[in-house]
Amino acid sequence: MGRYTGPVCRLCRRMGTKLFLKGERCFTPRCAVEKRRSAPGEQTREGAGRRRISEHGMQLREKQKARFIYGLMEAQFRNDVDEANRLKGSTGQRLLELLELRLDNAIFRLGFADSRAQARQLVSHGHFRLNGKAINIPSLTLKAGDTISWDEKSAKTNYYKTMIASLPKRPVPQWLELDKNSVSGKVAATPALSDIDTSIDTRPIVEFYSRR
Ligand code: SF4
Repeated sequence: MGRYTGPVCRLCRRMGTKLFLKGERCFTPRCAVEKRRSAPGEQTREGAGRRRISEHGMQLREKQKARFIYGLMEAQFRNDVDEANRLKGSTGQRLLELLELRLDNAIFRLGFADSRAQARQLVSHGHFRLNGKAINIPSLTLKAGDTISWDEKSAKTNYYKTMIASLPKRPVPQWLELDKNSVSGKVAATPALSDIDTSIDTRPIVEFYSRR
């Protein structure tokens, strides 16, 4: 299953919840989910149209939601679940840590990009350095102590100038340190569950993959 390339707001409507895939727009009344919620009579229609969902349907839905939030293809996501299974401790917690520790996610969390999709594109185009070395792999798993900085050439672009003018757009989670002077970030620790603000329930996801 490839990466979804259609209108991202459709994914939120399909999941019935906000997945925050479109940057700043997601925090405004222009969000498609907010518009639908505030439409006259919509709440009544939502309630009337709600169907009972099977256990399997619920598991499938939750793993699709997680996949859409982090912008992963099925094979990548399954690899992360397998890796979380191999690690000690709660598989669900390890999975969330692995998803959060992706390089593209950290760049989004630091406020260097408006969305994870944009962060992925910036990394692929070589705009960042990891521990001082050029990097173009958005899926790379970070570890405590890693530093993320902008490539010197990228620091001359208009995008960069606009981006630093609005830092920080969102609160930076505690597991990351943002240095506004050097416009760089550092992984201070492994993300704690309390740092992860996504609405993902990992239990059905782990159950979904345990059927294989
Ligand atoms: Fe989802 Fe953001 Fe679109 Fe709202 S604006 S529907 S949260 S992607």
